[in-house]
Amino acid sequence: MFELKNITETIVQEALQDYLRHAKLPCTCARCRVDILALALNRLPPRYAVSQKGEILTEWESRALPSQTRIISELVRASETVANSPSHPLDSPVN
Ligand SMILES: [Zn+2]
Repeated sequence: MFELKNITETIVQEALQDYLRHAKLPCTCARCRVDILALALNRLPPRYAVSQKGEILTEWESRALPSQTRIISELVRASETVANSPSHPLDSPVN
């Protein structure tokens, strides 16, 4: 099966997992994680490619991706926004 995939989304998801390991956020529940992803992805250029499941990025695909620095700075910014106004009361995380 072929799928249309936003490679930016894949690498931002991976970067977010790393980031959450050392960032001190008030909440990292499923809802807050997707809120952070949505905010960050709206500010990063999408990079669509057709791929087969599990396929590794080809060189030309990875070349046009936003830099790690750019991705991290968008994640920091998005996390701050979510931390300041979470989509749910902080005493009841959404998982
Ligand atoms: Zn949360």
